[in-house]
Amino acid sequence: MSAKIIDGKAIAHELRAEYYGRVHELKSRHGVTPALAVILVGDNPASRSYVRNKIAGCREVGIRSELIELPVSASEQELLGHIDTLNEDPSIHGILVQLPLPPHIKVSSVLERISVEKDVDGFHLYNMGGLVTGNTVFSPCTPYGVQKLLEHEQIPVEGRNVVVVGASNIVGKPTALMLMQQDATVCICHKKTRDLAQFTLLADILVVAAGVPNLILPQMVRTGAVVIDVGFNRLPDGRIVGDVDFEGVRQKASYITPVPGGVGQMTVTMLLHNTILSAERTTAAPTHRGRSLLGRVPAPVADAASG
Ligand code: NAP
Repeated sequence: MSAKIIDGKAIAHELRAEYYGRVHELKSRHGVTPALAVILVGDNPASRSYVRNKIAGCREVGIRSELIELPVSASEQELLGHIDTLNEDPSIHGILVQLPLPPHIKVSSVLERISVEKDVDGFHLYNMGGLVTGNTVFSPCTPYGVQKLLEHEQIPVEGRNVVVVGASNIVGKPTALMLMQQDATVCICHKKTRDLAQFTLLADILVVAAGVPNLILPQMVRTGAVVIDVGFNRLPDGRIVGDVDFEGVRQKASYITPVPGGVGQMTVTMLLHNTILSAERTTAAPTHRGRSLLGRVPAPVADAASG
């Protein structure tokens, strides 16, 4: 068997064309230009490159972006002040604070200051907690990208065994919760999991987000499994690889994502999606207001929060 390669780049391109149309509709019918504010603290080259990508993505679909650059010495209060201003600004629909932050700034205080309605990264505690009940306002971008890839390939999730390798708050845990909402039977593995292969071999859908090159070898994968590699690792020779032995595993899997060109393309695309959705919610378009990104009808935000 040789797996079908899931072309994240092509899927992202297709979705962005659709988003371009939605932005056009917002502008022409409602006079609303979706806008994303990005706050970058310090001068980390990797963060700068991620921010550049996000801004380029905005430009591609017609979202207005606003970059606020603060020096590494900026205080937490100063950063929170900027977030407060953006929260109050009706022309801004999404706020993103690029992580990591300098050590003197408490990440949780910053993420929780962002208005839930503008938390397009999906990292606010409310959105995180909402994953448990299926009531998120915005889903976190990378897990949402994984879900979109599966949907695009019409890979059923309901009733399937899903094994997620990696239990981080931004990828592993939310991915597991989102797929559980779709009625998969989910298992999460992490560094302390004993005999990883005994779990991965159970997977109909194996999602790997550990940050360890070649962690998943062919003998750890069931014939016909769907393998989604979220890992993104730079080798000493400069090559970018995932967490899966791509050449070996593609001989056994039914579907596989490449690295690069798989999940990575979807993360920024989902950020664009969330920003547009946020702008749509400010219009009178009831079809988008409060719609659950997980496909279930949520209670209004205030009700769900007080419940
Ligand atoms: P992270 O915060 O470092 O979390 C890694 C997780 O993997 C942890 O839960 C860790 O277990 C687990 N793990 C590490 N080694 C393992 C092993 N040998 N066996 C089983 N589990 C193991 O990383 P992350 O932010 O989730 O990112 C994971 C990978 O995805 C990285 O390569 C990152 O670059 C990539 N990523 C890609 C995108 C994208 O857009 N493509 C976005 C985000 C992340 P413990 O919990 O026990 O420590």
